[in-house]
Amino acid sequence: ASGYSLLRDPHRNKGLAFTEKERDTHYLSGLLPPVVVSQELQIKKLMHNLRQYEVPLQKYMAMMDLQEMNERLFYKLLIDNVEELLPVVYTPTVGEACQKYGCILRRPQGLFISLKEKGEIIEVMKNWPEDKIQVIVVTDGERILGLGDLGCQGMGIPVGKLSLYTALGGIRPSACLPVTIDVGTNNEKLLNDEFYIGLRQRRATGQEYAELLHEFMAAVKQKYGEKVLIQFEDFANHNAFDLLAKYGTTHLVFNDDIQGTASVVLAGLIAALKLVGGTLADHTFLFLGAGEAGTGIAELIALEMSKQTQAPVEETRKKIWLVDSKGLIVSSRKESLQHFKQPWAHEHEPVKELVDAVKIIKPTVLIGSSGAGRTFTKEVVEAMAFFNEKPIILSLSNPTSQSECTAEEAYTWSQGRAIFASGSPFDPVEYNGKVYASGQANNAYIFPGLGLGLIMSGAIRVHDDILLAASEALAAEVTQENFDKGLIYPPFTNIRKISAHIAARVAAKAYELGLATHLPQPENLVEYAESCMYNPNYQS
Ligand code: NAP
Ligand code: MN
Repeated sequence: ASGYSLLRDPHRNKGLAFTEKERDTHYLSGLLPPVVVSQELQIKKLMHNLRQYEVPLQKYMAMMDLQEMNERLFYKLLIDNVEELLPVVYTPTVGEACQKYGCILRRPQGLFISLKEKGEIIEVMKNWPEDKIQVIVVTDGERILGLGDLGCQGMGIPVGKLSLYTALGGIRPSACLPVTIDVGTNNEKLLNDEFYIGLRQRRATGQEYAELLHEFMAAVKQKYGEKVLIQFEDFANHNAFDLLAKYGTTHLVFNDDIQGTASVVLAGLIAALKLVGGTLADHTFLFLGAGEAGTGIAELIALEMSKQTQAPVEETRKKIWLVDSKGLIVSSRKESLQHFKQPWAHEHEPVKELVDAVKIIKPTVLIGSSGAGRTFTKEVVEAMAFFNEKPIILSLSNPTSQSECTAEEAYTWSQGRAIFASGSPFDPVEYNGKVYASGQANNAYIFPGLGLGLIMSGAIRVHDDILLAASEALAAEVTQENFDKGLIYPPFTNIRKISAHIAARVAAKAYELGLATHLPQPENLVEYAESCMYNPNYQS
């Protein structure tokens, strides 16, 4: 290959870091200025440049350009500066990027499969340059973060999630495949946007939708085998639960919005118990939002409680209440409830408003999974603080604009007593002379390590016990020093190590359940996980 094309191959390009010897052997002489720099200096320069941008979207675009130009440098930068750059390549900035994807798109990333490709999906897959795929993140763009239907422009999400699979979980970049299934969009604004990049039609539903998805799922298995992990991402709940149930018995599938969120939140709650005391079963939970995230979390809490107390899950569910857009979910509404809400329809009179539900149910834990911003009002937080010495309040909705309350509101309105975490990050807050740093209750803690654990054990199915194992592994990573600051999640700085520990616990559980196919089981799973992780340092 010529030196010229080497500089344009993101997998092999090192830019100014090519050594004298490499420049000689690879016909690079004259194509680069004389100076030879280290990867560290390249990182330093890039961070310096990135910090000059005031608009987050510009940082995002610079990062995407880097990914397309020099893959190793992109991952090294991300790994070394994870706390600072996570909000750029992921929530909240990725949300804005998707909204404007048509405008900012340069070289398209990922595989676009639309209704036009029906009958030819396997052929389309052949156009992808890599054959050894281990993780696919797929969306149909109908519920992107809390931003709703962004159609084909949802592609930013699989691309972003997979870059975290690599940076945080050590999956090789070439083994990752982002996919967007375009069946149209019901977003009028996008349909009328001249820069929209997707099919200009309303969403296909019913049989037409199911057939395209089925063809895709079959093609994946045919082309990549049955050990490829398929992560469903940001599907609307009217499809998400059904797809998970339908393909859960034939494929290695995982829905991050339902299961990943559940696992990360349960981890935070297990950790929070160290601060507030008691067991899960001693607590009462109230959710705002009864969709994928809300009911997914609720179910995993009920399951863990059931394991701890030996009580049947039908009993433990009674400690958990959910509010949706129509009010508290109660038995008198049962007939008209979607199937995933029905297990939560307890005997109670109807209650319309969240604040009234808080006053009546008196939860110790309040969880926002509504996608509706600023719904934890002053009255709601004050009610939580009235009933609880240390109210646990999680505002999970993303991006920041959709967060149920801000960190500042949570601490101020609870007089500094809340144990708070949010889906998108908030800066530390000063209240009454004390600084409160809140944690990020975000799936990015779980899915990279979970994926690594599944892949390194050759797991063929995801099981609820695997999610519980991941939660316990994450909770175990919260140190006393973190607790002393009121944190219920460890900082992201150590995420590679945390992911290795999660992967090890996940793999151990997969072996225990007989779901692992990579035999024999490695003796030290943590070390094995670390040895499997992609390393972005340059190689000669
Ligand atoms: P979803 O399935 O669409 O569910 C949303 C739920 O919220 C529905 O039950 C809906 O009620 C309810 N809701 C909407 N507006 C409401 C309002 N104003 N008052 C009360 N309830 C309201 O969505 P999802 O997948 O669960 O995701 C929800 C949010 O969680 C999104 O913002 C997403 O970004 C966030 N999330 C965060 C993480 C994380 O890592 N932190 C992970 C996953 C999801 P109806 O059922 O009555 O329509
Ligand atoms: Mn999601």
